[in-house]
Amino acid sequence: MEYCKRCVYPANTKPGLVIDDDGVCSGCRSFEAKTIFLNQVDWPGRERKLREMVGEYKARQREKGNPYDCIIPVSGGKDSHFQVYTIKERYGLNPLLVSYNHTFNTPLGIRNLTNIVEKLDCNLVRFTTAPGSAKRIAKYMLKRVGDVTWHYHAGIMTFPIRAAVQYDVPLMVWGEEGFSELVGMYNLDDFVEFTKKKRQEHSMRGFEPEDLLLEESGLTRYDLAPFFYPSDEDLERVGVRGIYLSNYLPWDGRSQAEFVIDKLDFETAQSRDRTFNIYAKNDDIHANGLHDYLKYLKFGYGRATDDASNEVRHGRMSRERAIDMVIKYDHVRPGDMDVFLNSVGMTEAELLAMVEPMRDPSIWKKGADGAWRVTDSVANHRDDAGVEAARLPLTDDNRPFTRTPEKAGARAQRDSNQTEYVLL
Ligand SMILES: [Zn+2]
Repeated sequence: MEYCKRCVYPANTKPGLVIDDDGVCSGCRSFEAKTIFLNQVDWPGRERKLREMVGEYKARQREKGNPYDCIIPVSGGKDSHFQVYTIKERYGLNPLLVSYNHTFNTPLGIRNLTNIVEKLDCNLVRFTTAPGSAKRIAKYMLKRVGDVTWHYHAGIMTFPIRAAVQYDVPLMVWGEEGFSELVGMYNLDDFVEFTKKKRQEHSMRGFEPEDLLLEESGLTRYDLAPFFYPSDEDLERVGVRGIYLSNYLPWDGRSQAEFVIDKLDFETAQSRDRTFNIYAKNDDIHANGLHDYLKYLKFGYGRATDDASNEVRHGRMSRERAIDMVIKYDHVRPGDMDVFLNSVGMTEAELLAMVEPMRDPSIWKKGADGAWRVTDSVANHRDDAGVEAARLPLTDDNRPFTRTPEKAGARAQRDSNQTEYVLL
């Protein structure tokens, strides 16, 4: 396997990573281009534009006598905290928070969602999927595409639009427009907005709920109810439009996490089974666990590769330390796997058999003993020719993911890596 000489991504990274003649991947190249672009952006001008735009929506909604100036889709994570704080505290709008409950929640996720509602004093509408539907969809999509979290993404990407129509609120405010940043399809198109197609391609693996209404799936309209997109007539009548804050404000996930921890008491995980990054994706049980492990079983790399590559690109981690992180985390069997297997009534052998046809033969090989093994690892490519030439200067190496240990001591000792479902 060929590996990027700057970060730690393998050549089979999805979707469509390409490694150039210097051995550097398209994700790293696109990150460079993006950095140059972002440094030239007139941020104060963009912020003025945002302030004016949200002000206009606010005025129009109030003229109509509608109590809600905009909709903010929230999961309870650090981005949700930042979005709500920005819109409510900085721009003075009254947002309606909208959340989709996929029912595979962690205690920490529920705690953080409650925290937003409480600290920022907002109304929240939450759609809770029937637990049986969630399990049926997860099981079917596991078999079909090796993904147990399709309904998470379909729900958070669709239910807010349904709410926009229902409550007659045209403006939806999303956080970061970053679907493809990891592997480098970032395009410099200004002010990209939310679309049905983008949601389907990037978040729903190309499937609309209509595509799952099949005899073989056994899924019903009731199971899939929150994922049907509103009609064009409804969208036009309300004038629904989804903007991304990252097009208007400089977006730095790490400083934002630190800001919401300090200012709003956002709580992070204490540790993770499959990555060193404790900030992201705290809200659901499988995002960092089984969901990510399935990616590893298919393509031979996981979230530690994603997170470490991102740190390398920001100059916050050396490639050598990134490789150590990959070795430590990428192969780890996550604790939530048993929770999932018990809940859907499946054995590990059955799950592995379902994934088998999805294993990428460019990295996985089945031994004579029937066990699957990776045929290569970035660990074998520490000192490849070209690594030195591709190296970025370290600006901030090994800066710890701070604020957590101190806070943890001061707060209730919550086991935030807890793997149990909390329904509501
Ligand atoms: Zn790279």
